[in-house]
Amino acid sequence: MQLYNTLSAKQRAALIDEAGEERLTLSFYAYTQIEHPSEFRDQLFMRWDTLGVLGRIYVAHEGINAQLSVPAPRFAAFKKHLDSIAFLKDVRLNIAVEQDNKSFLKLKIKVRDKIVADGLDDDTFDVTNKGVHLNAAEFNSLTSAEDTIVVDMRNHYESEIGHFEGAITPDVDTFRDSLPIIEKDLAAHKSDKNLVMYCTGGIRCEKASAYFKHKGFERVYQLEGGIIEYARQVKNQGLDNKFVGKNFVFDERRSEAISDDIIASCHQCGSPCDTHVNCANDACHLLFIQCPTCAEKHDNCCSDSCASIVALPRDKQKELRKGTHNSNKIFKKGRAHHLKTLNPS
Ligand SMILES: [Zn+2]
Ligand SMILES: [Zn+2]
Repeated sequence: MQLYNTLSAKQRAALIDEAGEERLTLSFYAYTQIEHPSEFRDQLFMRWDTLGVLGRIYVAHEGINAQLSVPAPRFAAFKKHLDSIAFLKDVRLNIAVEQDNKSFLKLKIKVRDKIVADGLDDDTFDVTNKGVHLNAAEFNSLTSAEDTIVVDMRNHYESEIGHFEGAITPDVDTFRDSLPIIEKDLAAHKSDKNLVMYCTGGIRCEKASAYFKHKGFERVYQLEGGIIEYARQVKNQGLDNKFVGKNFVFDERRSEAISDDIIASCHQCGSPCDTHVNCANDACHLLFIQCPTCAEKHDNCCSDSCASIVALPRDKQKELRKGTHNSNKIFKKGRAHHLKTLNPS
């Protein structure tokens, strides 16, 4: 019985091309009680693998957080399988705004302690005492009120390329960092303002809203289904779009355009640009924003030193990479001090 990927990303990409099928990129999550996460994980893998589902899925005792791509012809079978699982029956599926057949190239289902790394001790507060869920129309109306504070619950590299008008966008690398900062900054408004929070697909706000209520915030709201569901409702219902720029997503697409505005700039020359790339030097792999002109000028690298490494023969590069880790740098672009447009001093 096969329970893990056997194909490389490259092989998978070729297979997707060969199959010529449209794929749907979507996400969903559910907080629930899963008694045996490993068994549940294996069941999902077996069924979804046969359906050709690809994606990144986290399973924990507290629930499931899934981002995936499903072949369109097998969507009905996939949905039927979800509906056969009691706590996933009729779960809201966040369908991507912009589709790409190669949004995911592997099926990775991992068992984790938590489905979102929030750093919270769930036993210390009532996680079910959540904020009031808002749909897009309600969100638009409430965020127009003067006594409302809108908080972006995402990280700096996400809000940098797109966020709601007037939102507070904490300068943080991780979700767990953002919670104490927001609590401190807004401490004076626990009862006199509406605290409206949002994130990519809604999952981060599920726990955060309960946490802030526990911390004494009285008027806590959250955007149901996050930016993805908001964009869908705005389009379908012809509502005003209060989101400017792109929605950062955690798959090969990197982002979805929600409005035509470009609110970020190239980290190397400062010209308007909101395209994230990874530095071509595999030993660096830094995620940063780079315009096409700078990409050409710097050989798709973040710095001259990375460009000089990329110019070396492959085996020499590999030798240099031995024993080094780059994973913690991937989303640390704002802290990369050589990218001077971010660090004007
Ligand atoms: Zn540039
Ligand atoms: Zn680099």
